[in-house]
Amino acid sequence: MTTTAPSPAPTASAAELVRRLRRTFAGGHTRNLAWRREQLTRLRALVTECEAELSAALAADLGKPALEAFVTELAFVRVEIDTALSHLDAWTAPRSVRVPWKQKPGRARIVPEPLGVVLVIAPWNYPVQLLLAPMVAAIAAGNCVVAKPSEVSAHTSAVLARLIPQYLDPDAIAVVEGGVAETTTLLGERFDHILFTGNGNVGRIVMAAAAKHLTPVTLELGGKCPVIVDRDADIDVAARRVAWGKYLNAGQTCIAPDYALVHADVEERFITGLVRSIREFYGDDPAASPDYSRIVNGAHHRRLLGLLPAGDPDAGTVVVGGTGDEHDWYFAPTVVRDVSPDAPVMQEEIFGPILPVLPVASLQDAIDFVNGRDKPLALYVFSGDDAAVEQVVAHTSSGGVCVNHVVVHFMNEDISFGGVGGSGMGGYHGQAGFETFSHLKGVVGRTVKPDPKVAYPPYSAFKRAILRRYL
Ligand code: NAD
Repeated sequence: MTTTAPSPAPTASAAELVRRLRRTFAGGHTRNLAWRREQLTRLRALVTECEAELSAALAADLGKPALEAFVTELAFVRVEIDTALSHLDAWTAPRSVRVPWKQKPGRARIVPEPLGVVLVIAPWNYPVQLLLAPMVAAIAAGNCVVAKPSEVSAHTSAVLARLIPQYLDPDAIAVVEGGVAETTTLLGERFDHILFTGNGNVGRIVMAAAAKHLTPVTLELGGKCPVIVDRDADIDVAARRVAWGKYLNAGQTCIAPDYALVHADVEERFITGLVRSIREFYGDDPAASPDYSRIVNGAHHRRLLGLLPAGDPDAGTVVVGGTGDEHDWYFAPTVVRDVSPDAPVMQEEIFGPILPVLPVASLQDAIDFVNGRDKPLALYVFSGDDAAVEQVVAHTSSGGVCVNHVVVHFMNEDISFGGVGGSGMGGYHGQAGFETFSHLKGVVGRTVKPDPKVAYPPYSAFKRAILRRYL
């Protein structure tokens, strides 16, 4: 994929759309807290009243079970909205800050202000949540929003494009559907912030396009999220939780455990636990389980088949799964062992239900393995030893860490969610999202008197001595 910045001639419609939203923003009513509250309340109504429609679209795109659609998409957005509504007054209030004695008498404060017209570009794997949750933050901060759902999850995109204008202020919030061409055209416009969620190659394109307008970006990217299982971890719990986080949405989750580094002494028990959990969750035939999602399309299904060992001993041995059905894009929950770090499955983000398990001789070996690769979006460590956990936290870098569980740190509204290095930049959720879409403007006010002349030229020896002594 090219990393060259697109430089399209923006189409009249994209240019006109952004101009229209700019006029709305300049009119000032999106700054009004009553407007923000009303939009957030209406968005909450959309998510609540249209649950059946959204759930059906998610089932059509990803075979997403209704309960998973509720928990990981709709309820998640509702929590973001409720958090924003209950903290809006506090988040938007000017924050008094200390005044250094040299600037007294006076006062200093930080005033959050909206940025203007922002662009949110979403991917297909959680196509409701990853479009609407950034929108919650952008609206709470008082911005106008252009929302671009993923064309890959076409049913959900169509439903959102129809519902959003019915519920939200169309003068301030617009949906643009489409794929590369439409996104490229949008990226030719000047926005005041872009929040992009997707893969790193497109992230580079977005950032290069944004650079032309000096537009700040938040990049929510992916990568390989490791699990470290220490010797004294509760292995049954570790296996069950890793299996849950891995096979949720058929592995198409940016913070899904990508591979497991397991202390060699407990590898056998861990793999047995994974196999048992898969059977407990999805039965003997996961293809028949109503609780197991499908791969989003044929291209991803073929890509995943290509990551299986296919007779190459270095690429590992399939313990369970390893089969797919191209007719309905079913891909079995799969565990692979004896995987070489050079195997294809270890070269790219898997983003599907294949879990490679690699034995390690020590915790330090696991840390070295992680540090030899791109910084992950999430890192998981299972251990009964607090010192071991702290060793991992202190000596690795990742977007976030979850101890003795997977994925759930994403749902803590008080934690900014985002990557570091190759897994992204910036963050959102809760107040962090509000601040991503705000400018925190410093305002310092001084009294007119006194007005000592010591800081003004000409700089006499006396003034120099005073300033050098006290500043
Ligand atoms: P995708 O193909 O839906 O692309 C994301 C968005 O980029 C879409 O809206 C698409 O239209 C647009 N796009 C695609 N190609 C483009 C191009 N050449 N120019 C301009 N726009 C373009 O989604 P994807 O990239 O396959 O998503 C999967 C990736 O996203 C994985 O790497 C996953 O880890 C990551 N992800 C990250 C998070 C997070 O929160 N950090 C969440 C979900 C997914």
